[in-house]
Amino acid sequence: MIEFPESRHLAEQIKEHLLGKTVMNVEANKSPHKFAWFHGDPAGYHNKLTGKSITGTNAYGGMTEIVFNASVGEMRLVLNDGVNIRYFASGEILPPKHQLCVEFDDFSSLVCSVQMYGGLFLMDTTGEENGYYLSSKTKISLLSEENNEDYFFGLMNEVKQNYSIKAFLATEQRFPGLGNGVLQDILWDAKVHPRRKLETLTQQEKQAVYKSVKQTLFEMTTSGGRDTEKDIFGCPGGYKTKLSAKTKDSPCPVCGDAIIREAFLGGNVYFCPTCQRYEKGGK
Ligand SMILES: [Zn+2]
Repeated sequence: MIEFPESRHLAEQIKEHLLGKTVMNVEANKSPHKFAWFHGDPAGYHNKLTGKSITGTNAYGGMTEIVFNASVGEMRLVLNDGVNIRYFASGEILPPKHQLCVEFDDFSSLVCSVQMYGGLFLMDTTGEENGYYLSSKTKISLLSEENNEDYFFGLMNEVKQNYSIKAFLATEQRFPGLGNGVLQDILWDAKVHPRRKLETLTQQEKQAVYKSVKQTLFEMTTSGGRDTEKDIFGCPGGYKTKLSAKTKDSPCPVCGDAIIREAFLGGNVYFCPTCQRYEKGGK
């Protein structure tokens, strides 16, 4: 899934390589997918976008936003965290299955496909009512200065203290873009097990988690995203994940113990049993 570091990298790449390109043709919902969501009727995407040019990009949480013609008749294409975005130059063979293909007047294409589930929202200004979009766009960004210790610990004090640290960080859109992917290295670096309950964390451990959210995400973002995700050219990100499907059973880079995978709270968590201690009952 695309999370905070990757959506930023995708937005930057699109800005660098696609800015100014004009849309010539749009195919939406070519390969119907049970869990691909559109804003309005995908059949209308062609008429809404044709003739418009890319004027900018943004990233909110795990969403990548492409802006077309900001001054007149602005449209925004918002691709959420479950959408793969690939760019193909003129003459390259396009994948046969996709949920959205935007062809430009230089015959290059942006092809979007959904793996498990994903949203491909083409919106004008009235699209603001999309709650998920709005909450990602308006919440304080993870690496911004406003997301400081006061803000972070304020949110931590608002939730039930029997919440696990995973539930606090990666559920309920408290921190848009911090999902079950980036979570793993954040907690490993802080030496905190994902099942630990907030009420059992020492002040020092809470500080370590806060610091790791900032540092790990910064490192992931400046490296062009994690190596488990791909950019618009199909290349993996430059950040080498310490804990991910790629490193299961591998030795922990710090202590050498084998990385363990377990299902927890709607997804797999990875941890080092030595660096991230956990006792029954949440301690
Ligand atoms: Zn370890």
